[in-house]
Amino acid sequence: MAADERPPGQLNPQEALRQGHWVKLICGASNQDLPAITDLCAVYGAAGIDCVDVAADPAVVRAARQGLQWLDQNGLARPWLMVSVSDGSDAHFRKAWFDPARCPVDCPRPCQRVCPAEAIAAVGSVDELRCYGCGRCLSSCPLGLIEERDHRLGSDAIAEQLAAMRPDAVEVHTAPGRGDAFDALLAELSAAGVPLQRLAVSCGLEGHGITPSALAQELWRRHSSLRRWGFSPLWQLDGRPMSGDVGAGTARVAVQLWRRMRPLAPPGPLQLAGGTNASTVQLLRADERPAGVAFGGMARRLLMPLIHEAQSRGTSLRHWSEGWQAGLELARSLVEPWRRRPGMEHSC
Ligand code: SF4
Ligand code: SF4
Repeated sequence: MAADERPPGQLNPQEALRQGHWVKLICGASNQDLPAITDLCAVYGAAGIDCVDVAADPAVVRAARQGLQWLDQNGLARPWLMVSVSDGSDAHFRKAWFDPARCPVDCPRPCQRVCPAEAIAAVGSVDELRCYGCGRCLSSCPLGLIEERDHRLGSDAIAEQLAAMRPDAVEVHTAPGRGDAFDALLAELSAAGVPLQRLAVSCGLEGHGITPSALAQELWRRHSSLRRWGFSPLWQLDGRPMSGDVGAGTARVAVQLWRRMRPLAPPGPLQLAGGTNASTVQLLRADERPAGVAFGGMARRLLMPLIHEAQSRGTSLRHWSEGWQAGLELARSLVEPWRRRPGMEHSC
């Protein structure tokens, strides 16, 4: 099967967006756990996702491409590769850091317990490659030793990096009041000369103290910029600023944001994100059809125990048949309910 062909019943990503069946895996805008990223791309790709969204980091992109090439080699459809950048300070592009020499020897290490990425071990500091900046550990230290550090790609490096990485799509994390910075970033992206299938815009309400109509105004301004630079939009509505929560409450916030923004947002597909999980699809009424969904922290956590188990056996999930089957079932449990929903035409 050629790389751009789909198995029976699987739409190509553009068509999936148009019909409301789009599913994206967010590997994390600052996640650099390379072996895990390769396995995540392979297993969610095999489960039928349309896009993998990774950090704009050449090593991460290489790891993701390895997973996508594995799909090609096994006759499976390859999802789009999207990289994430930001037009300003953003929690998705941070990492935690502390100096372990300052930690008391008898500290019970609450920071280690709260970390969902196993980025803090029993000794030492934060494993920078595994940390994806969720922020849970920041307030866990009784001595306040943990700080956050910015890991954004400098805007002067974006055009060059993008030209080297050649993704299928880019996501720009933006925030209210950053219209000029967004425009400047689009100029950089355009200068890279890489044809993009979509330019996703990631934004939400939480933490910005604005109303849905004010957010809509911001999105309309971004829409004008996208048109000016000739990019096709994809609106990623973040219910929560980070996607790593699993409760039904966070899923509800994401669905509510989509409901509020649907009549206000500019043209283009509206996709749910930020707090999405397995409950999300059940919260939608039968007549409610967002263009799709992005799964982040929850999707990663679902698979990480198996990926770590494979690593402890000295292999990868892709090369451990029993683990692969179990992982594929888990990934499908998240993806297939979105495939089974009745389709609906979206203007794209
Ligand atoms: S808790 Fe979150 S921010 Fe802290 S080290 Fe783990 S992944 Fe990074
Ligand atoms: S909780 Fe604070 S003091 Fe304890 S190990 Fe973590 S960073 Fe160090």
